[in-house]
Order: sequence, then C-alpha cells, then structure tokens
Amino acid sequence: MIIKPMIRNNICLNAHPEGCARYVRSQIDYVRGQSAPFSAADSPIKNVLVIGASAGYGLASRVVASFGYRANTLGVAFEKAGSGKRTATPGWYCDRELTAAATAENLRAETIIGDAFSNEVRDQVLQKLKSDYGPIDLLVYSLASGLRVDPADGTTYRSVLKPLGKSYSARSIDPIRGELLDVTIDPANEEETAATVKVMGGGDWKLWSAALMENNLFATGALNIAYSYIGPELTFPVYRDGTIGRAKADLERSAAEITSTMSGVDGRAYISVNKAVVTRASAVIPVVPLYLAILFKVMKQRNLHEDVIQQMYRLFTTRLYAGGEIECDDEGRVRIDDWEMRPEIQQAVIAAWSEVGADNLAEVTDLEGYRQNFLNIHGFGFPQIDYSKDIAL
Ligand code: NAD
Repeated sequence: MIIKPMIRNNICLNAHPEGCARYVRSQIDYVRGQSAPFSAADSPIKNVLVIGASAGYGLASRVVASFGYRANTLGVAFEKAGSGKRTATPGWYCDRELTAAATAENLRAETIIGDAFSNEVRDQVLQKLKSDYGPIDLLVYSLASGLRVDPADGTTYRSVLKPLGKSYSARSIDPIRGELLDVTIDPANEEETAATVKVMGGGDWKLWSAALMENNLFATGALNIAYSYIGPELTFPVYRDGTIGRAKADLERSAAEITSTMSGVDGRAYISVNKAVVTRASAVIPVVPLYLAILFKVMKQRNLHEDVIQQMYRLFTTRLYAGGEIECDDEGRVRIDDWEMRPEIQQAVIAAWSEVGADNLAEVTDLEGYRQNFLNIHGFGFPQIDYSKDIAL
C-alpha cells in the first residue's frame, strides 16, 4: 500500500509504519544523547505503569523511563492494528517500535491494548504486574479520550470541548490549509459538562490508584502522576474555564485524595501541568492550533522550544527525580509549563495574536513547524522516507 496522509478536520486518518518508528527512535535518541542516563543499578525507578502509553505525553514518559532510567514498563493504550485496507493507528506503530527497542536492550516492555476505563483491562494489568513485574515505583496516568464507559453501570459518557455559560468567538486556524477562521462555539449544557468530568476528570485515576493499592502493587515511596494543562488567558474560555477545565480541576483535586490513600507505602500523587504541544488530542481543541503555531514561533526565537520528549525528560530529571522535595506551585502542582508561562513569552504571544492575519501568517506564526510536528506524530513528513514506496502492512 502507498500511504500518504489523509487529513480531515485536524484529524489524520492514517499512519505510516516506518515514519512512526522513526518518530519513536528520534525520542529514544534524544534521551540517549542527554548527559546523565541512569544504569539499572542506580535508577530510582524499576517498574513503571503508563496508562495512555502509545502517544503524546504518555509515550514520551515511557521513552524517558525506559531509556533514561532503565525501567521496565507496562503500558495500556487504545489502538487498532492495521487490516488489509487500513493502516494501523499511529500509536499502534509507535508502541510496536518502543516495545521492540526496549526489549532489544533487555528491558521488559509490554503493552495491553484495550480500554483503560474497563474493569477487564484493569484486572489484566494487575495480573500482569503480579506475575511478571512486581510493585511499581511510578504510575503515569496520561489518558486523553473522547468517551468513557463507566465500569460501574455501563453508561457511556462523551466529553465535549466547549465554553461554559456563554458562547465564545475567537480566531482559529485550519493548520493544514493555512486558513484563518473565526469560530463561535456554543456553551455546554450541564449534562455535557458533567459527562466531560466523567471522562477526563479524576474518577478513573482514583479507580486505578485504589486497585493498585489494594493489590499491594505500589512500591514503597511510589509516585503517581497525572497530566494537566492550564495555558494562557487567551484560551481560558475554551480550555481552563470550559468543560475540559472543569474535568482538569476534578483531576487536580483527586491528587490530594489519592495521596492520602497511599500513606501505607509512603507514596504520593501529583499533577504535572505540562506545556501545550501538538498531539492528536490537542489538535482538535478549537483555537489551540493557532495558539500553538504562535507559541512555537515565540519559543523557538528564544531557544525555549520543547516537544513532548524534552518536556518529559525535564519533568523526570529536574522535578520528579531531582532528589529532595518535589518542587510544586501553591496548589501542590508540578509546573513543567514554566517556560511556556513566562511573562515575556505570553506577552509576545498576545502581541502576535492581535496582529496575525492572512498576509503575515508566515512571519507571525510557525505554522510550518506545527504542520511538520502534526505530520511527524502520524509518521509523515520525514525527508528520509520515500512515501511513494509500496509498503506491506
Ligand atoms: P494523546 O492523544 O497523544 O494520547 C492519548 C493516549 O491515551 C494514547 O496512548 C491513547 O491510546 C490513550 N487512550 C485514549 N483512550 C484510551 C482508553 N479508553 N484506554 C486506553 N488508552 C486510551 O494525548 P496527550 O495530548 O498526550 O494527552 C495526555 C494527557 O496529557 C492528557 O491528560 C492531556 O490533557 C495532558 N496534556 C496534554 C497537553 C497537550 O498540549 N497535548 C498539554 C498538557 C497536558
């Protein structure tokens, strides 16, 4: 099959196996190139469970845990294998590459493909940890999902990305066509808001944490981390003050509750607020692609640009495992979005936002960088790959 990107409404419908492998290898190479990788003997982490392990921040966390900290990793991800006519999902190829690369270095790395919200998958993970891994030193909870079937009663909840209270109108972009758009998003109703909290809030993280505690699968001193986002006031109506922000507030509140349940192993749960990056999840949030294209320009100009792997490497080495107390903000959250949120960065973004137009897109934004990043996470846009070549799936 000849595989060229098929993109509709900021969603890429296919993936390139060789390109996804290359994408993962570039993350591994980044970690290998850093100055202080650990040996298995002196690593503070031996076993890691990553929920949402095949893409975005979860994948990058797993690369850092495996190749920076020489940890064994068990992953959970919701991905589809290819069939005769369809490619696999990008996460499926990325996961295949990562687990093969780790296994080749005698690290244990397996992934359970299935619905992390289900009791069945949780049970499978618990059994696997008990039989093959032992207690974990770190749980990374990095799910981004549009729906959740509540295992308690089988109800399906769908998350929405909408403002609360009133409509929100803003400038946005179709990053693939390079067209600026003015979008208006109607506010969510209460049911949609509650459903978004059910999907992306802390409920499922609490279930995983409780199950791991009950089964003695957290090692002494274990860390338990979930990812959140705050971002600038520019995106507050659709993010922090919108339905997803309600869910994130619920997730963030869960951290203290979970920590209190982990006292028996002296474990702690944290939220890490990460920076905005291009992932399949963030590409479909209205307004965010334009913000990202501007942010890339501003951060690259100041040599502060980071993608998922740089963020996760910095999170592990300068926050989670830097030695001593983990540095947190007033609300107990780890802030690895600190560079994005620097006042001079945000002022420059606001200035660019107010002047961006069809005639100056290339000067004011790094739309090309955004596109490249978006293509890369699906295995496209690598000059070393001949995309006209027929590939066996
Ligand atoms: P992503 O879309 O790149 O990855 C999501 C992962 O979740 C994939 O591995 C996918 O397989 C898995 N997944 C989804 N539904 C699942 C299910 N039902 N069962 C098992 N696995 C499932 O997402 P991302 O952007 O890396 O987001 C991960 C976390 O990071 C989210 O909590 C998100 O809010 C947070 N975050 C993202 C950004 C950003 O800019 N992308 C910024 C800060 C924080």
